[in-house]
Amino acid sequence: MCGIIGYVGKSDRALNIVIDGLKALEYRGYDSAGIAFIKNNKTQIIKEKGKIKNLENKINFNLKTNLGIGHTRWATHGEPNLKNSHPHKVGKITLVHNGIIENYEELKEILKNYNYKFISDTDTEVACALIDKLYQEKNDLVKVLSKVSNLIKGSYAFGIICDDELDTIYATRKDSPLIVAIDDQDYYIASDIPAILKYTNKYMLLDDYDIVKMSHNNITIYNNKLEIEKKKNYTFSGNIEAAEKNGYEHFMLKEINEQSTVIKETMFPYLDDGINGLIDKMPDFSKYNEFDIVSCGSAYHTGLVAKTLIENYTNIPVNVEIASEYRYKKLFFNKKKLIILVSQSGETADTLASLRIAKEHNMDTLAIVNVVGSSIAREANEVLYIKAGCEIAVATTKAYLAQIAMFALIALKIGISRQTIDENELNEITQDIRRLPLLIDEILKNDYKNLAKKIFKQNDIFFIGRGIDYAVAMEGSLKLKEISYIHSEAYAAGELKHGTISLIKDKTPVIAIVTDMNIAPKTISNIREVKARGANVILLTTIKLDDNYDFINYKIVVPSIHPIIQSILTVIPLQLLAYEVAKLRNCDIDKPRNLAKSVTVE
Ligand code: GLU
Repeated sequence: MCGIIGYVGKSDRALNIVIDGLKALEYRGYDSAGIAFIKNNKTQIIKEKGKIKNLENKINFNLKTNLGIGHTRWATHGEPNLKNSHPHKVGKITLVHNGIIENYEELKEILKNYNYKFISDTDTEVACALIDKLYQEKNDLVKVLSKVSNLIKGSYAFGIICDDELDTIYATRKDSPLIVAIDDQDYYIASDIPAILKYTNKYMLLDDYDIVKMSHNNITIYNNKLEIEKKKNYTFSGNIEAAEKNGYEHFMLKEINEQSTVIKETMFPYLDDGINGLIDKMPDFSKYNEFDIVSCGSAYHTGLVAKTLIENYTNIPVNVEIASEYRYKKLFFNKKKLIILVSQSGETADTLASLRIAKEHNMDTLAIVNVVGSSIAREANEVLYIKAGCEIAVATTKAYLAQIAMFALIALKIGISRQTIDENELNEITQDIRRLPLLIDEILKNDYKNLAKKIFKQNDIFFIGRGIDYAVAMEGSLKLKEISYIHSEAYAAGELKHGTISLIKDKTPVIAIVTDMNIAPKTISNIREVKARGANVILLTTIKLDDNYDFINYKIVVPSIHPIIQSILTVIPLQLLAYEVAKLRNCDIDKPRNLAKSVTVE
């Protein structure tokens, strides 16, 4: 999230270089764009909401300048409007930022005491003021940026111009990507390779806390205030298309591989200050004794996972409803019911319509959304943002995962308040949440190509599971069918013999999910039933349940973790398997036929 470019060098066409760089980063998704450059010895800022085209229309490209920074914003704090778009300027500091400053509210309060006024709703403007404040004290931006890294919690890539050094760009990063490129006496910073590929394919990767100072004929990179002698040079050999995907063959694969970061960004901020942090940062659910979760597609499947989590850990009953049904059915509202709307884009037409109906009935509403400032986020009474970042592949992966993560946090918060989760269990869960990113990365190392080869020519593939595993099975089945076009259905394992089992014949793949210890023997009996009819059984299970079963053809084992977050791990092999199957079938993985990323029509 989402794009930075900076240029300083011999060319006086910095405006064109910066705008071209932003265009090359467009694939990352954005909602507004802006640039800063030097004109008449002053920093000038031009920004505009919406497309880069809108920004271009405001720029006079005849103006000659050798230095510029540019930004495409994918809003995380504050609506995507003009005042919130970057660059931000406070005092002598002009800043573009990718990432999230988690402790911005706290910093904002402190900075207000020093008479800083804020005009935007962003976390970025706070960082900008902080840098300005420290610069007033230290007068040395390298020292300032190194100090800032101790004060800021969260993730950032910064590009900075200071009014006192109009021939210099400063940059630094933590947990947000930033590269540096040198081509003769032209220097670039960029959040990704496509932005510089027109000029050079050689680049250096900045490490966390590296600080770059680049001016017309000089570049220095510091870490820990010390100059770094030499940084490894990389040469990018692919084309622009490959560069946009960061070397991954498809956006879907890239996004699957981003999931450990997404979990960190979505969950960790709620755990920073122990129980109190979680209680304070989440809405107050104490007046509700019933929830309706309303959503579509994968977000509906998230709701089904959430139902098990919330019911099991809080004793609150949950109805999960498909939004296109909900909006036309007879609804039963009461003041103790909360309506939760889930949508990645925040623009899903049926979900938005359901939200409006709930509001017409004066119901309390909570949105779980990825895109900041989207319609659903704006119209709901409360919003919890998942931090999946920009998702480009039509088939969702990381946003689905982040939605489940958010529901796990909700269940945790309510469980603590209602004392259905005790302190020991809470500690165990918190520790397990902290392990999640590592475990996700472990799962991502597995290769599902060989398994995909065994099933990709089939016409029908079934998924079965019970309870929460059934909910995950539904998502696994949807992932497979939407990108590979293989007919697939998910069944509650116990339902098979009431119809579907008649479809099982020799070699029909059945992917059985068994992670819930309590109900495992029941699902295993169902697996035996399909095996006896010739099914090719693929078992997806946890280490705890791993055994030498005689009824399986293939086994996928994921680590066991507290059940409240187990599904986050369970679903990942299914995403990867769907991906590999679709690839073997030469499907258009990122843009499956007939599908759109954001369904804004009824
Ligand atoms: N958190 C910042 C904002 O909302 C930066 C978002 C981005 O990475 O584009 O303005």
